[in-house]
Amino acid sequence: MTDSILVLNAGSSSIKFQLFAVEGRELQRRLKGQIEGIGAQPHFTAKDADGALLIEQSYAPDEVADVPSAMAILNRWLEERLAGARPIAVGHRVVHGGPSFDTPVLVDDAVLSELENYVPLAPLHQPNNLAPIKAIRERWPGMPQVACFDTAFHRGHGELADRFAIPEALYQEGVRRYGFHGLSYEYIAQALPQVAPEVADGRVIVAHLGSGASLCALKAGRSLDSTMGFTALDGLPMGTRPGALDSGVVLYLIGHKGMDAAELEHLLYHGSGLKGLSGVSNDVRDLLASEAPGAKLALDYFAYRTAKEMGALASVLGGLDAIVFTAGIGENAPEIRESICERMAWLGITLDEAANAEGATRISRGDSRPLVLVIPTDEERMIAEHTLDCTELREAG
Ligand code: ADP
Repeated sequence: MTDSILVLNAGSSSIKFQLFAVEGRELQRRLKGQIEGIGAQPHFTAKDADGALLIEQSYAPDEVADVPSAMAILNRWLEERLAGARPIAVGHRVVHGGPSFDTPVLVDDAVLSELENYVPLAPLHQPNNLAPIKAIRERWPGMPQVACFDTAFHRGHGELADRFAIPEALYQEGVRRYGFHGLSYEYIAQALPQVAPEVADGRVIVAHLGSGASLCALKAGRSLDSTMGFTALDGLPMGTRPGALDSGVVLYLIGHKGMDAAELEHLLYHGSGLKGLSGVSNDVRDLLASEAPGAKLALDYFAYRTAKEMGALASVLGGLDAIVFTAGIGENAPEIRESICERMAWLGITLDEAANAEGATRISRGDSRPLVLVIPTDEERMIAEHTLDCTELREAG
């Protein structure tokens, strides 16, 4: 049986997983699946590398009430599937690496307790990310586990990009502009030298447009700034989050509408963005298909705000050599790419309509500078790569 690396990405109600075979220095994806609806309508599906369904099973809510019980089911299934052979290491997506972690890290007791300290910085995500690490420690003691952070790729930001204009004491206790989607940006930065070598050392804005959305300003493959800040609420409007919002609005909602923290959290994480604006859906596919006036408004607003933030990051970079679109919307919605690029035409961008419609890698015209590219992201592969490197299990090539 070939050695394998398990990658886990646990959220509040789901665990997504992928298994990669380690073949020399290469990683081959073997399995991909998820247990969704944990505690509500648990549903387990997994497919092999060719997309063939390997399992599809529903459970009663109390059979899979939480992340640890989902992990137990997943581990049993994996052990069966691998005929008793365990993975050689497990890599985890962990949203927050706090101010100190600027690279992935092999988890030990000290690291785990440090990561627990960051729960207040990401209360909705961090506990769910840490639960599978603990579950694996119990089931497979001694298994090397690597935490890969959404924040790490941005930790090299300069002081100006890292701060809010608030008192220093708050900065010192960790209220900083961390930025997120770092594993996606790192993957794109690594892919650029092959995909478009002429811009890989240049000034690039990567637009990770999925149900969460942000931009990253890359210079020679390093992150200089990003639109997300202390939390994943800042920057671009998203499926259900508003993006940058005058903090006075929050004061108004507390002072005049009497909202408490839980109500605000619901409004800002689940009731705003494309969903709140359109009154139709948080999903761009639904909005593109809808005749409702709110749907057009929401899509126009998304493109407007994205182009506006791109202008800001072009200024941070001192010019622009390329835009890269990625994630669910960036990879699959030519209409949205076009609408954003039209608003960026002042920079010299012209789209090749046919290439854009068919989702080619290069969608700008030959004479267009900046270039416009579409590169599918692969955060799980990035985690698997880091896991191999951190555990020094990669065979010398
Ligand atoms: P996440 O991983 O954050 O859940 P994704 O990167 O998968 O998000 O993006 C999901 C979003 O991408 C969907 O909500 C939808 O708006 C958009 N999307 C996915 N496929 C398409 C498509 N074919 N056309 C337009 N939008 C799409």
